Amino acid sequence: MTKMESMVSIINEINSCSLCWLCNIRNNTVPGIGNLDATTMFIGEAPGEEEDLQGKPFVGKSGKLLRGALVKVGISAEDIYITNILKCRPPKNRSPQLNEVACCRKFLTTQINIIQPKFIVLVGSVALSVFFGKNSSMTDYRGKLYKKYGVNFYTIFHPSYILRSPSSINIFLEDLSRFKDLMYSQEA
Ligand code: URA
Repeated sequence: MTKMESMVSIINEINSCSLCWLCNIRNNTVPGIGNLDATTMFIGEAPGEEEDLQGKPFVGKSGKLLRGALVKVGISAEDIYITNILKCRPPKNRSPQLNEVACCRKFLTTQINIIQPKFIVLVGSVALSVFFGKNSSMTDYRGKLYKKYGVNFYTIFHPSYILRSPSSINIFLEDLSRFKDLMYSQEA
């Protein structure tokens, strides 16, 4: 199977998934979008209202902030694949529950295996906790590379945190800019 065929197959599985009850309230699943040959995957938390309506990740308010920041620091959307821990929206954007994360985990693992990224950018504390444990703190991980399973993990604030705490925008941009240098230098 080609990468495209494998991704289409997992997206079909996601679209028909009823492992947890979020399937009952979704308008659309939000499997992910981007370049299947990307060196870098961005992994957020879960779809919000706009993502649920459009079936695409990071297209709402915080998505616009993230996408604007990527443009600003010089990371091309064509060079990345973006997805989330959960593929369906939790009610009222509450945090994902452990059983929901567990149900969705195999989809994310398959997507990582298809893309085989050199880098995974964990967007926010939920994505961080899924890969590094529930006690992992943003302060320790943010803006640094950690190697695990042969992949370089890099953690940034979630853009919804920046919307709530706009004074952190400079740290957010600096972290992303530092990551851009790593991402493109490794590619050369
Ligand atoms: N927040 C996320 O973590 N993911 C999205 O797709 C949108 C908002």
